[in-house]
Amino acid sequence: MTTRKSIYFFARGQTEGRADMKNLLGGKGANLAEMTSLGIPVPPGFTITTEVCTAYYANGGRWPEGLDEEVRAAIRRLEEVTGRGFGKTEKPLLLAVRSGARVSMPGMMDTILNLGLNDETVEALAKEANPRFAYDSYRRFVQMYGNVVLGVPSEEYEKLIDEVKARKGVELDTDLTAEDWKELVQRFKQLTEERTGKTFPTDPEEQLFGAITAVFDSWNNPRAIRYRELNKIPGDWGTAVNVQTMVFGNLGPTSGTGVAFTRDPATGANVFYGEYLMNAQGEDVVAGIRTPEPISKLKEVNPKAYEQLEEIRKILEHHYKDMMDIEFTIQDGELYMLQCRSGKRTALAAVTIAVDMVKEGLLDKETAIMRVDPEQIEQLLHPTVDPNQELDVLTKGLPASPGAAVGRIVFTADEAEEWAARGEKVILVRNETSPEDIGGMDAAEGILTARGGMTSHAAVVARGMGKCCVAGAGEIRIDFEKKEMTVKGRTFKEGDWISLNGSTGEVYAGAVKLQQAELSGAFGELMSWADEIRTLKVRTNADTPRDAETARRFGAEGIGLCRTEHMFFGENRILAVREMILADDEEGRRKALAKLLPYQRDDFYAILKTMEGLPVTIRLLDPPLHEFLPHEAAAQEEVAKEMGKSVEEIRAKVESLKEFNPMLGHRGCRLGITYPEIYEMQAQAIFEAAAQLAKEGIEVHPEVMIPLVGTVEELAFLKARVEQVAKDVMAKAGVEIPFSVGTMIEVPRAAVVADEIAKEAEFFSFGTNDLTQMTYGFSRDDAGTFLNDYREKGILRFDPFQTLDQQGVGQLVQLGVERGRKTRPDLKVGICGEHGGDPDSVKFCHRTGLDYVSCSPYRVPVARLAAAQARIEEKGQS
Ligand code: ADP
Ligand code: MG
Ligand code: MG
Repeated sequence: MTTRKSIYFFARGQTEGRADMKNLLGGKGANLAEMTSLGIPVPPGFTITTEVCTAYYANGGRWPEGLDEEVRAAIRRLEEVTGRGFGKTEKPLLLAVRSGARVSMPGMMDTILNLGLNDETVEALAKEANPRFAYDSYRRFVQMYGNVVLGVPSEEYEKLIDEVKARKGVELDTDLTAEDWKELVQRFKQLTEERTGKTFPTDPEEQLFGAITAVFDSWNNPRAIRYRELNKIPGDWGTAVNVQTMVFGNLGPTSGTGVAFTRDPATGANVFYGEYLMNAQGEDVVAGIRTPEPISKLKEVNPKAYEQLEEIRKILEHHYKDMMDIEFTIQDGELYMLQCRSGKRTALAAVTIAVDMVKEGLLDKETAIMRVDPEQIEQLLHPTVDPNQELDVLTKGLPASPGAAVGRIVFTADEAEEWAARGEKVILVRNETSPEDIGGMDAAEGILTARGGMTSHAAVVARGMGKCCVAGAGEIRIDFEKKEMTVKGRTFKEGDWISLNGSTGEVYAGAVKLQQAELSGAFGELMSWADEIRTLKVRTNADTPRDAETARRFGAEGIGLCRTEHMFFGENRILAVREMILADDEEGRRKALAKLLPYQRDDFYAILKTMEGLPVTIRLLDPPLHEFLPHEAAAQEEVAKEMGKSVEEIRAKVESLKEFNPMLGHRGCRLGITYPEIYEMQAQAIFEAAAQLAKEGIEVHPEVMIPLVGTVEELAFLKARVEQVAKDVMAKAGVEIPFSVGTMIEVPRAAVVADEIAKEAEFFSFGTNDLTQMTYGFSRDDAGTFLNDYREKGILRFDPFQTLDQQGVGQLVQLGVERGRKTRPDLKVGICGEHGGDPDSVKFCHRTGLDYVSCSPYRVPVARLAAAQARIEEKGQS
């Protein structure tokens, strides 16, 4: 037996629990106690603690010693408070036995109502109220107890009810008479005994002990275990058990039961929102047997109960300072509260309620900021699937990039561009995407891939574009020849309509209805409060002026990562790029690079101009060169023709560039070391664009970033060349441009020798995608399959490519910051991996003293909010 108290009583004037005791009393028990203390009418009862449940399991599934006596004592106390007797044939006390974990776990256990009824007590109840009500309650009890405690399927009882209804030619439960229910009780018991081989318990105490044990056991039923896995709830928490006096919504037409939210959980509007059903009990409201009425109707039907409910709504909101989800019952015109908890809400509602409550004086700004889940607010920025429609779900993949998309199927990037140019809306369906597909991805409404994970090319690029993407939908089979795909036996051809839900990963047949994202006033207001509080800056990863503009609109304070390789794929450019790769000597390469220079200059000009006044970190060429050459024979022939070379030559070059581990191969600064002329051309383009803008009176702050540095020598070698180019360009143009040269820290060695590297680097940007890949030794592109196994088997609790591994990779970040700043105290430090937009990772970056995070445009508001929360949490600790 635990040494602590195992039972907490709640009744007017005798309440022992409080709302902040959820760990011990469960959410339901803690709030029942709190409401009772607030003077709200709650039927009295008691809560058996979660510790008792844990002790039950420690005791090998037996009640801890002494619990039976304590339960008996609590029942006696309840009898005194209510003036009723448990199992008595005069004024019988009936009970509800309800589970209640720390957090709500729907489907863990069904509640048992009307416990304490048997053939004698039911007669007493019939005399006290009326027979129909008494037998309706009795059959409910036998059905619930038989189902929940004894394991007889509910449908079998329902079948018997349907038989009687058919025989009598009636449709509704409420049409059945006392005699009908009385007959059904006997048949229910018979059924139960047939199915279980035991007599149905008539002793109320035996019923109660059985129900309590069933609640303990329900903690470890397969549904509950599955739910805990999905929601990361520890298995050792245990559940509390609430034993509560019954109140009756099935007493007749002046009784009823209902559920409500104190505000609209979809929009956040400050209106009472809910449903009720008269002459009903328990889950009748949600069971769909009869259609419930909107709460506004109660105002007409039972103004007194409605007024009480309105009053309680106010009391609860003022007390909890939150939007609450409540359950209530009206017994013969009297209102009773049976549950309250913080209400689940959409992102829009969360933001609206938080801001409204500040204006109503219920919350301060900081609390309001803490109330909104940063992960949720990205929903507000994308169009979404309208939930009010029938959806034909084809299959489910990974929710790779949120939002929704509707369009006609195309299977190649080229077709996506062609169709879009004709004004068609298309969904690009691929096995996976590659850098060559960028144009088509951009033209498509959304992207669907059969393979690949959350950090696959399709996923990363789509998030960057703020474009809906469902990745890794493994049930899809694409036949590129026939231009069709099959999903679970259904075939879709090019041009057929489908829809994607990037927030759930669902794929739908046909064109679904979308609802437009609304940047409501409240959202803007909340973000401005976040900006006042946070100290961590938020930049964006953007490669195009359009992305840069989107990000500025969402509040980005600079570009943390501008990748230059995407610019190489544009028309005409890719030719020059290939010419450069195929050149035999430096002279040939310089000739090809000279053709690229004007394109790159224009790109940088546009981006720097869009980001006027803000810093722009430009990363020099990073991917291995083979990515720019075609691998299929047909495409190789085409390139040969274009270049005036032989196919053999092209094939030989592709062959010679092949690497066993391209991600650990000839890429990043290693290319710059082999071919300094490439980086020199890029630097020239950057500084010429900057010089032009400076002359036009536009303030620019280019930051040149050298990727994949592992030794200070690499950086010194390349930095000297970049600085030389800058000097030459500025001298020629006659302008001074404030600029800096720094590096990405993405090779683990760089983090370790950060003090050395900081001698050359004027800033660090942690490239946590590569850093994670190289620290774990997991290939970003291939790890998808076994990472799933790792997740399922509990080896990894999260995907380290999505959430920064603070224990391992994070330590390298911390080390890098410390050592870097030892050499250069004013070293500017940021992060530009996918993690820059993940709330937990953003908070880690704040605590580690980074100056900024950088993330895709649509994550910018997410990061701003997370950064504010990190600051508030920090203040709370000091
Ligand atoms: P859940 O956790 O699934 O919401 P509850 O314990 O809240 O389960 O019980 C479900 C329903 O049973 C309640 O919404 C209410 O209608 C009914 N109920 C629970 N306790 C009582 C009670 N003491 N008196 C009358 N009805 C009750
Ligand atoms: Mg339920
Ligand atoms: Mg409930």
